[in-house]
Amino acid sequence: MLLPALRAEVCQLHALLPANQLVAWTSGNISARDPDTGLIVIKPSGLKYDQLTFEAMVVVDVDGKVVEGDLVPSSDTLSHCYIYRQRPDVLGVVHTHSRYATAFAALRQSIPCVLTAMADEFGGTIPCGGFALIGGDEIGQEVVRCLAASRSPAVLMQNHGVFTIGKSAEAAVKAAVMTEDVAATIWYARQLGEPLPISPEHIDVLYQRYTQVYGQHPTADTLS
Ligand SMILES: [Zn+2]
Repeated sequence: MLLPALRAEVCQLHALLPANQLVAWTSGNISARDPDTGLIVIKPSGLKYDQLTFEAMVVVDVDGKVVEGDLVPSSDTLSHCYIYRQRPDVLGVVHTHSRYATAFAALRQSIPCVLTAMADEFGGTIPCGGFALIGGDEIGQEVVRCLAASRSPAVLMQNHGVFTIGKSAEAAVKAAVMTEDVAATIWYARQLGEPLPISPEHIDVLYQRYTQVYGQHPTADTLS
């Protein structure tokens, strides 16, 4: 079997999506790219989260062709692959319809940088891309276009949900969790009034500190 360790990692990471209330029923998916072979491990289409096993994961090449696996890969596979082809730095992609972030997406609203946690993790606003149909690589094109002009590892897709990228699948999952967390906080804040923006200068200082100084290792685990 190809890539057993990466299959196991991607399978285990999928459990974090329902655990963090980021998905309902079978929605959402995670993929990871093996840096040595370039092959991608991705969730099979339409399986419930408690049915996922590492054997059920599908291995595809960077063009989305199934290399190993008995099941059909996620309907978002071609978009994941487009992102990997365009972004050699990306080794993990996550997609959810998490509730609060997707509420912003329903209105094509970006999530404004009004929390220090956002400046830390996202380096600014989480952008919202335009509408794209599911099934081809159109979503991937819009994700890449939006993130090229942003430090954020997360992007919303109009009327759809959240896509995140990372230097690992776990980093992309972290970005998906943090996206929903800040979206919920800002939703609550808006019940009280209009949240105050953080100045671009302060966002830069916070982002630099968090990505270069914070934590046990002086490196970022999300993309810059
Ligand atoms: Zn979706």
